[in-house]
Amino acid sequence: MKTIGLIGGMSWESTVTYYQLLNRMARDRLGGIHSAQIVMWSFDFARIEALQAAGDWEAATGSMIDAAQAIERAGAGMIVICTNTMHKMADAVQAAVSVPLVHIADVTADAIDAAHVRRPLLLATRYTMEQDFYIGRLRARGIDVRVPAKSDRTVVHDVIYNELCQGIVSPASKAAYLEIISRGIADGADGAIFGCTEIGLLLRPSDLAIPAFDTTELHAAAALDLALG
Ligand code: GLU
Repeated sequence: MKTIGLIGGMSWESTVTYYQLLNRMARDRLGGIHSAQIVMWSFDFARIEALQAAGDWEAATGSMIDAAQAIERAGAGMIVICTNTMHKMADAVQAAVSVPLVHIADVTADAIDAAHVRRPLLLATRYTMEQDFYIGRLRARGIDVRVPAKSDRTVVHDVIYNELCQGIVSPASKAAYLEIISRGIADGADGAIFGCTEIGLLLRPSDLAIPAFDTTELHAAAALDLALG
């Protein structure tokens, strides 16, 4: 089994999910007392969030590269960045290590293709919904990604940082997300991407009338596939 290298803590609320999923899936696949072989770097998210809010992506990239190289030295056979947003610097991270980086947008695109969904609504941080690093990668695969209207993007973003990343799961925010998804469906969306690794704490795919793609689950499953060859 290859060692899975997690860069987490962004936030730790979703890194817990990665850790649980990887170990449960390893047990399901291998049986008995098996679990996943993992090394992890977990950031203090306050530091990273401050860099994001200040737009200091250069410093954030430096921190991500340091983390990736540290877990590679510790034996990681792959790099798994446990957040969609911090895939903004995925190419720079990949260039700084010699092990493969499992790209969350690529595994999500694979699942969208397999489900024959063409116009998914992306729910994510403002950075992921409004910059090109994520949407562009999906569009390059022929996927017509949609994002909510500006005021709805603010709601989605604020719930992520002010609630989910701080362990707050609110029924009112769940209702707000479901309304935003309903508006997306009315505008033609045929799927929803949980494009932030904490959204699965608020919504389950079964809450939706359209197919949902939980990036945390898809990413963890792809990492385990690579680990088990
Ligand atoms: N975990 C989130 C994501 O998947 C948001 C936190 C972050 O900015 O990294 O984008």
